[in-house]
Amino acid sequence: MPGGPMKRYVFLLSFLLAFLVILGCATAPVTGRTQILLMPEGEEIALGINAYKEILSKAKISHDPGINAQVKRVGMRIAQVADKPEYSWEFTVVDDNATINAFALPGGKVAVYTGILPYTKDDAGLAFVLAHEVGHALARHGGERMSEQLLLQLGQEGLNIAIADKSSQAIQAINLGYGVGATLGFMLPFSRTQELEADHIGIILMAKAGYDPREALKFFERMMSGHTKKGPAFLSTHPADETRIKDLNAFIPEALQYYHP
Ligand SMILES: [Zn+2]
Repeated sequence: MPGGPMKRYVFLLSFLLAFLVILGCATAPVTGRTQILLMPEGEEIALGINAYKEILSKAKISHDPGINAQVKRVGMRIAQVADKPEYSWEFTVVDDNATINAFALPGGKVAVYTGILPYTKDDAGLAFVLAHEVGHALARHGGERMSEQLLLQLGQEGLNIAIADKSSQAIQAINLGYGVGATLGFMLPFSRTQELEADHIGIILMAKAGYDPREALKFFERMMSGHTKKGPAFLSTHPADETRIKDLNAFIPEALQYYHP
C-alpha cells in the first residue's frame, strides 16, 4: 500500500510549506505590506549580481560621457537616500535607443536603456525612473517573485501526490498548506501591487533626494503622448493608465513632505 508513506510525505510537505511561509514573513519599506521572502537576502543578492553580469555581457554598454555622468549623478543621489548600506548600488547605461525601459535586480543593480532618456528629459524625470527601480530592489520584489514560484512549485508537487494518492486526508493537508499561503495573499497576482509599491517608494525617494516629485507625472505625460500607437516597453511592463496616474497623484502630498529643494 503506497498510501502510508505518501500521506506522510504530503503532511511533511504541507508542514514545510507552512513553516516556510511563517519563517519568511517580512515587511516592505514605506508601504508596510506583508511579504513572503523565503530566500536569505545574501543569496538573493548573489543571484542578482550574476544575472546583472550576464545581461550586461550581452548588451551594448553606453560610453557616452554626458549620459553616463547624468545617470551616475542622479542614481547616486537616489542610492544615498535609499539608506541600504548592504547594497553596492550600480547604475549602467545600455546603448539601445529602441528599448524604452529600465530594470533593477536584487542587491541594487540598476540599468537604464538610452531609449527612455528622451522621455525622462531631465534629472528630475530620470530621478523618478531610477527611484522606481531602486524601489523594486529595496522592497526585494525579485526575491518575492522567486518565493512565490517556490511556493507554487511545492504546492503543485504536493497536489500531484495527493491526486495520485486519492486520499482525502492528503488533499485536506494540501488545502491546509495552500490555505496558510492564501491567507497571506501569495496566490494573488503581485505584479500590479509591486509596481504600485515601487512607484510609492520611488516618488518618496526622489523627493528625499531633492527632486520635485510632481515631475514624475510630467514624465508619464511625455511617455503617453509620445506613444499612442504601440506602447513602449516601460509602459507594457509598467502600465501608465488612469489608475496608475491617479495612484501616483495620491502619493504627491506625502512625497512633498520630504521635498526640501
Ligand atoms: Zn517597475
